[in-house]
Amino acid sequence: MLYNSTQNANEVVSAAQAIAQGISKDGGLFVPQEFPKYDDETFNSLLSLDYKGRAKKVFSDFLSDFTEEEISECVDKAYTSEKFGGTNPAPMSFCELDGKKLNILELWHGPTCAFKDMALQILPHLLTKSLKKTNDGKDAVILVATSGDTGKAALEGFKDVEHTKILVFYPVDGVSPMQKHQMNTQEGGNVNVCAIKGNFDDAQTGVKKIFTTAEVSAKLAQNNMMFSSANSINWGRLLPQVVYYISAYCDMVNSGKIKMGDKINVVVPTGNFGNILASYYAGLMGLPINKFICASNSNNVLTDFIRTGVYDKNRAFHTTISPSMDILVSSNLERLLYMLSGNSDEITKSWMKALKTDGKYEVSEEVKSEIKDKFYGGYCDDKMTKTTIKRLFDQDSYLCDTHTAVAVNVYEQYVNETGDLTPAVIASTASPYKFSRAVLEAVAPECTLPETEFDMVDTLNSITKAPVPAPLAGLKDKTSRFSDVTEADEMQSYVLGALGIE
Ligand SMILES: *Cc1c(COP(=O)(O)O)cnc(C)c1O
Repeated sequence: MLYNSTQNANEVVSAAQAIAQGISKDGGLFVPQEFPKYDDETFNSLLSLDYKGRAKKVFSDFLSDFTEEEISECVDKAYTSEKFGGTNPAPMSFCELDGKKLNILELWHGPTCAFKDMALQILPHLLTKSLKKTNDGKDAVILVATSGDTGKAALEGFKDVEHTKILVFYPVDGVSPMQKHQMNTQEGGNVNVCAIKGNFDDAQTGVKKIFTTAEVSAKLAQNNMMFSSANSINWGRLLPQVVYYISAYCDMVNSGKIKMGDKINVVVPTGNFGNILASYYAGLMGLPINKFICASNSNNVLTDFIRTGVYDKNRAFHTTISPSMDILVSSNLERLLYMLSGNSDEITKSWMKALKTDGKYEVSEEVKSEIKDKFYGGYCDDKMTKTTIKRLFDQDSYLCDTHTAVAVNVYEQYVNETGDLTPAVIASTASPYKFSRAVLEAVAPECTLPETEFDMVDTLNSITKAPVPAPLAGLKDKTSRFSDVTEADEMQSYVLGALGIE
């Protein structure tokens, strides 16, 4: 299977090249030229497999230049019971809210307690194998812009992986104290963490610019290094996410919630559009998905886009209690637009260019109606997010984090508006303890807030009795290693300095 750039039809690469490079030279994103199609028989054959078995099947259909052994090795190393606290790294919880059934797909049982582990525990293995296939022994330099969770998950995935170095930038005031502490205490000899004075979009723009600056790449090449990306624009990030939607469907069939062939809806709390795009790709492979419900917080640029066909990032940026979704430029949307424009690199390029120059573009009527047909967009502010956490906990003793609560709330809005009761899989993207302050304020508004984030974890635990994930419980005793802060427009020199090649 070969991959195209969304912005240049002549750029055709293998899976290993797509993963090793991360982003295409022209700035476009790599997309598969076609999608494998699974029928009922294929899905039936997946029912008796465990998560790893299902993952191996999906990976082997997309990574045609990897051997079965290579894929097995990557999957077996990534999804261990030790790292994910059980044999199913993505278990489901079933609960009810005001009579609506919620099928919650918990994607946060990995080492950093957010869903990004699902991809970032396997990406380093895919990447080192890809580099061996495509490169003459260059070391990979991973640059990451993070709104909080990617950074820690990438650091944890890449720590001490041979022939890699990783450098993470986060917005200085844009992540939770817990996220900051998780990153600044990161262990490993090949890691570096730096805050930037700006928001996530500044960080992401900065990283993209460094990637595409020829003189920087040349400097790396002279020193036997090359850039690669662990951001959700890397194909090696997206593909692992396709697996859990397919696996969740199988688990729903196995537990009798649905029958094989029944349709489901998916609800995804969305930031960079990676997670929901993975569900869309699962749909293209034949997974019977009726509606893709895209849930945003007050940064509701995607809600507006889905409803009007106009993407307009010229608006106020809100810092919310679901910070991993505080994003105004959703990079992975480009991949959807490419598909919906009939794989047109020209059209995709023109929209992306307009986004860069005017901060805004409008898609064609055809694309608009296709988006409306498949997607539903909704949003929910911080107040509603907290109310949702409280209602769900009070009614069914289920404690969810702020991002998941946004999804639950938008799902309620969807059902109220449409009456569509198709069973819905709701992606739960973080442990509630990762956002203890907001979750505690939500479930116990009368409680006096403890001083530190760690005390909030303890208080939340004693009130709710929900177990604290081991990686968060152990964080308290770790000492900080990183404290650098830099201007957004000085990221490039920071990178060269950190690599020792100014
Ligand atoms: C990254 C993240 C999201 C957003 O996912 P995208 O793939 O960027 O849309 C949602 N919730 C949490 C907790 C996250 O870490």
